[in-house]
Amino acid sequence: TDATAGLTVWAEIDLDALQHNVRTLRARAAQSQLMAVVKADGYGHGLLPVARAAVAAGADWLGVAQLAEAIGLRDAGVATRLLSWLCVPASDFAGAVRRDIDLSASAPWTLDAVAAAARAEGRTARVHLKVDTGLGRGGAFGAGWPTLVEHARRLEAEGAISVVGLWTHFAMADAPEHPTVLAQQDTFFEAVAMAERAGVRPEVRHLANSAATLVHPSAHADLVRPGIAVYGLSPVPQVADDFGLKPVMTLRARLALVKQWPAGRGISYGHVYAPESDTVVGLVPAGYADGIPRNATNVAPLQVGDLSTRIAGRVCMDQFVVDLGPGSSAAAGDVVTLFGKPEDGPTAQDWAAATDTISYEIVTRIGARVPRVWL
Ligand code: PLP
Repeated sequence: TDATAGLTVWAEIDLDALQHNVRTLRARAAQSQLMAVVKADGYGHGLLPVARAAVAAGADWLGVAQLAEAIGLRDAGVATRLLSWLCVPASDFAGAVRRDIDLSASAPWTLDAVAAAARAEGRTARVHLKVDTGLGRGGAFGAGWPTLVEHARRLEAEGAISVVGLWTHFAMADAPEHPTVLAQQDTFFEAVAMAERAGVRPEVRHLANSAATLVHPSAHADLVRPGIAVYGLSPVPQVADDFGLKPVMTLRARLALVKQWPAGRGISYGHVYAPESDTVVGLVPAGYADGIPRNATNVAPLQVGDLSTRIAGRVCMDQFVVDLGPGSSAAAGDVVTLFGKPEDGPTAQDWAAATDTISYEIVTRIGARVPRVWL
C-alpha cells in the first residue's frame, strides 16, 4: 500500500483481525468477562491502538505488567478496568490509585504501599491478591497465602483497600493434558474458598491465559485473561486447530538491492551460506536491531512474490540477504513478507519453530525502529 512505499521494514497491524480474535475468545468463554492482555506494547503490536480496538470489540478489562504501561493507557484516555501486576517498593502507587488502576499484590509489603497511597489520595484502592498455585513465579505461596489474606482483611476493615480480585497463573496450560493444570486449578479454588471464609468478597476470580481460555473451560471462572490469542497466534501450536484466530501482525520489508551472484561464493558475515549454482540475491533491510533473531540465519522462511525461500547467510544488525534463485526477475523495491497470515506466506509460528522459540518472542521483540502501520 502507498503508506508503506518509502519504508524499508514495517509491521502491518490488522486491527479487524484483532477484533475478530477478541470476539472469538469472548464466544469461547461466554459466561466470563474478558481481560485483553496488552503488556509489552501490546505484544509488540502497539499499546494504544491495540487497547482501543480490543475495548471496542468487547474486552471488559485490560491487563499490563508494568505500572508505566497502565499509566500510559489512562493518560491517553483509556477508561476501561485495568490491572497492573508488577511493582517494586518505589513504584508510583499514588499515581496508580489516582488513575483508578487495579493493582496486584503477592506480599504484605505491596498491600502496605498501596494502602499508604490510598490514604494519601483519600481513596480506596482496588487490589487483586495473587496466589502461587504452582507456577513458581509471582504470587503468595503456601503459608504466605493466609498471611496475605489476613493482612488484606485488616486494611480492608480500615477502608484503605478493597480486595476485588483473587488470581493465579498457570505453569503449563499450553500442554493441555498436563496434570499440573488441574492441580493448579484445584489449589486455586481452595485458596479462593479460604479467602472467602476469611471474609474476602471478590468481584472476579481469574486464572485462564489464552491456552486455558481455548482448551480448559473449567478454568474460565469469572474472567479470562488471554494475551497471545488476541494477536491471533495459538498458545498450543502442537494442536492442529487454529481456533478460528487470525494473525494480527504481518512483518514486511522491501528489497534494497538485487544482484547476480556466482555459485560457491560466500554471503554475509562469516560466509555461512554460499549458493550451489549461479543465482540472484536480494538485500533485505531488516536485522537483529529490528528484532530479527540472529539465529534465523539460514533457516527462517520468507515469501517474495510467488517464491517461498529462506534467509541466506547471517542476519546482521540492519540487514540480511535472500537467495531469489537463478533467473529471478525481482527488483529493488519488491516486497518481502517475513511472517504474517498463513495465506500470505510464513507465520510467526513458522519463525518460532525455525529459531527454537515461541511465537510470543517473535512478535514481542520486533524493535521500536520498525514502524507499525495499523490497518
Ligand atoms: N496473565 C498473566 C499474569 C500473564 O503474565 C500473561 C502473559 O504472560 C497472560 C495472562 C497472558 O498469557 P497468554 O499470552 O499466554 O495468553
